[in-house]
Amino acid sequence: MDALELGQRIVAILETGRRTATYKFALLMSLVDYCVENLPAEDVPLSVPLEELGERVIALYWRQVLPLAGIGELKQSSQPRVRILAAVSRLRESAYQARTTSLDVARERVPNDYRRAVTNVVLTLVRQPLARLQHLPGREPGQTFLYDDSWMGEGVNQSKIDRHGAVVTLYPGVATNLARLSGLLRPTLELLWVEDVVRLNASLRNERIDVASHLFGQERVGLARVRAAYFDEFGASCFYCGAKLDGASPIDHLLPWSRVGLDGLANLVPACRPCNSSKSSALPVHRHVTRALDRDIAQLARIGAEIGWPVQRERTVGAARGLYLSAPQGTPLWESRSGYSVVDLRWAETPWLMEPVSHR
Ligand SMILES: [Zn+2]
Repeated sequence: MDALELGQRIVAILETGRRTATYKFALLMSLVDYCVENLPAEDVPLSVPLEELGERVIALYWRQVLPLAGIGELKQSSQPRVRILAAVSRLRESAYQARTTSLDVARERVPNDYRRAVTNVVLTLVRQPLARLQHLPGREPGQTFLYDDSWMGEGVNQSKIDRHGAVVTLYPGVATNLARLSGLLRPTLELLWVEDVVRLNASLRNERIDVASHLFGQERVGLARVRAAYFDEFGASCFYCGAKLDGASPIDHLLPWSRVGLDGLANLVPACRPCNSSKSSALPVHRHVTRALDRDIAQLARIGAEIGWPVQRERTVGAARGLYLSAPQGTPLWESRSGYSVVDLRWAETPWLMEPVSHR
């Protein structure tokens, strides 16, 4: 199946299924991101560890379960029992007791609560959205195009998950095509997600509230901590053009936030406002990525430890590789405020393009 047909089928999934909860979006977005970061070399099956899928789903809901000012916690389902959201809220509560609001820090400080949340979320994923995702109305049972779901469903317990290797295995070609479609799928999933949350929360309909920023925006308060630490360690100058920066200058996502939700230090650089807004959500030319990844990892780790912030270098390398290798040749890459370049995306002398996908 080619990328076009896969894309059409996914649109059919999104349009036709009953949309009673936002789980389906969280699952698809997590799958797409995993495929970008772990792009297989050829059209081979890709085994996605369920645990990692669960962790990604938790990360997506982590900020979303916070109350929205003046409204409260947003409903994400029409059902009264909402296991995934309850699991995320409980983990947030334990994290708060352990004096952190960061999911990555919570993993270290309250490891048992973290594990429990992941186990819970994985169980729910296998019983519901993973089991139902491909079941379009009128579809013959057993016809699947993303992965074999014959063992999944309501009755599944942990030992059944373990017997199946605790992975969901994507058919050959699916991962490559999901990565190629990520630039279309991610924004579509966000739009539909926002639409459903507004539909599920009557109180939002007449308010002029930026629901999209609440659900998917960047965490501005936190980024101020990164800026202060970067200025201390690297000096206050723009990563791209060297211009002098001040306390209101942006922190730029090297690989655009709209393409991969990577907030780790490895994907963050200080930038001046003109560079930041000119770059917007474009991919930068290879050399900017190389320079950012060449920063001293020990120094980044030290900053991370100081301000309680993840580094995510491996994930950033994986995502860079996936984004450049799956983008169509001829894609303009952002060079500087004065323009773009069109270069070979598979440029052979770029080390991070060659780094094999690590096995975590
Ligand atoms: Zn600049």
